[in-house]
Amino acid sequence: MIRRILKFGDPILREKCTEVTEFDKDLGKLLDDMYDTMKKADGIGLAAPQVGVLKRVVVIDTGKGRMELVNPVITAFWGRQFEAEGCLSFVGKRGIVKRPMHVRVTAQDRFGRTVKYRGKELLARAFCHEIDHLNGILYEDKVIKWVEDEEQK
Ligand code: ZN
Repeated sequence: MIRRILKFGDPILREKCTEVTEFDKDLGKLLDDMYDTMKKADGIGLAAPQVGVLKRVVVIDTGKGRMELVNPVITAFWGRQFEAEGCLSFVGKRGIVKRPMHVRVTAQDRFGRTVKYRGKELLARAFCHEIDHLNGILYEDKVIKWVEDEEQK
């Protein structure tokens, strides 16, 4: 099911999300819906508060396959990168954001099993961006410089 993506200015995007403690059918449905919603919107990452759910849940697919991160925590990061970044809650806007080049994340999957990921470049950026969402932090807070979108959809 495709869910509605909240846009910037919505106060829900500024709330801090709570930990997931129940790994049940509802969580699986949320993850499936988030993935479908992200794909339909042509995105590479989506955090639960963007669909109005204040839980620590993220989906990412940067082209390396589907990743589901429940209660994700960044365990290590190093290096830095400056690239243009966008967000499904800020359609048509992009801005340069400083992020680490390498990020390691520990999370849980939909069944509560521990999963570990490591990402660099775009994937490292996606981990940071989506985990920020869970703490009510939006990339607009971190943009160094806004850039023009090459192609307006
Ligand atoms: Zn975002």
